[in-house]
Amino acid sequence: MSPERGGFRGNKQSLPSKACAVCGRPMTWRKSWAKNWDSVKYCSERCRRDGKPRVVKK
Ligand SMILES: [Zn+2]
Repeated sequence: MSPERGGFRGNKQSLPSKACAVCGRPMTWRKSWAKNWDSVKYCSERCRRDGKPRVVKK
């Protein structure tokens, strides 16, 4: 039995991450998001557009 097994391969997990609000993919912290990390909800421009609630015109 190896204690190293268990899914953790020793990669540095120091950077914060969270899931995209649209596709659910994990987003890893980027330097460009440093200032607005709290407001980042989408992994890409595409998701950001898709994630915007569309106003349903009646
Ligand atoms: Zn996404």
